[in-house]
Amino acid sequence: MTSVATLGSHCALQVLKGAHDEGFKTILVCEKKREKLYRRFSFIDEFILVDSFKEILEQKCVAKLEEQNAIIIPHGTLIAQMNSNEVEAIKTPIFGNKWILRWESDRNMKEKLMSESQLNIPKSISSPKEINGLIIAKRHGAAGGKGYFLATNEKDYKRKRDKLIQQGTIKGDSDLYIQEYAFGVSAYLQYFYSALKDELEFFGVDRRYESDIDGLGRIPAPQQIDIDTIPSFNVIGNIPLVLRESLLEEVYSMGEKFVEASKRLVKPGMTGPFCLEGVYDDSGKFTTFEFSARIVAGTNLYVDGSPYSAFIYDESMSMGRRIAREIKNAKKNNQLSKILT
Ligand code: ATP
Repeated sequence: MTSVATLGSHCALQVLKGAHDEGFKTILVCEKKREKLYRRFSFIDEFILVDSFKEILEQKCVAKLEEQNAIIIPHGTLIAQMNSNEVEAIKTPIFGNKWILRWESDRNMKEKLMSESQLNIPKSISSPKEINGLIIAKRHGAAGGKGYFLATNEKDYKRKRDKLIQQGTIKGDSDLYIQEYAFGVSAYLQYFYSALKDELEFFGVDRRYESDIDGLGRIPAPQQIDIDTIPSFNVIGNIPLVLRESLLEEVYSMGEKFVEASKRLVKPGMTGPFCLEGVYDDSGKFTTFEFSARIVAGTNLYVDGSPYSAFIYDESMSMGRRIAREIKNAKKNNQLSKILT
């Protein structure tokens, strides 16, 4: 019997509930400190307790997962806590394309995949000297917005960078990637690409609620000027959004272009859930500043299905459940090799 496993964080509850609803045995690789939390949920069948998630690379853990015929569902915590070499070295089968996760973690590879997808992307700035207008400086990898900052010129950039160095958040310029700030309203577009059906499903949209940048609007301008902290973009939670229907056509075409480019650049291409992240400007044009090549935490909003999944499925379909459904269909048709790496 196949089981579905994931790491205890990020969207583990949604993923394992979905797998349970599709009839799979569920396994949580859980840090001991979080055991009490996850024991509250009866749809988790088995716990593999670890001190650190990196133990999934060790033989003891690999053997336990193998015994249960487990498939690992990767999410943000996996790539936040392991580097790309470690992720690629995982011996347990991974749902989706584990090779594309390197393209998500490395800012330059990420930019290449987005431009090959012909997405409209913000300009990246190669040196602080070239800053001329509002930029956002971001850390490499999935830092979840922590330690990111805005600047308008080189002097401003250096002051903020030095403060982060002092705090021990970064070591220097090489830890930062500078990108033009895109104006507008943010939207995180959630997709599922079925390699079995060669079909793209649009699953939902969310916005992130980020601290402390999203709290700034509550502070009047004179007091803002007096505050000398660097606002960060640390994700605290997610807020649902539905789009104007006239925007949907472009949503699908952007997703399809992304899937096409990924097939060319990183075989077997984008398989399963992914997210295009960006902002809509005042004319409804989308600028993509980022993608995630795996399930995003914003899908946790739609455990009972989303306003978009309801148009595709006559049952509650979360992203976690959709993943499990794909595994079930692949198993039934002897096509697991198409969706696992
Ligand atoms: P994750 O891996 O969790 O998606 P991340 O660490 O890769 O996050 P980003 O999504 O690139 O980080 O950025 C974090 C936040 O910073 C975004 O949610 C958004 O608010 C803001 N942001 C990033 N890039 C831009 C940009 N070019 N223009 C405007 N805002 C931006």
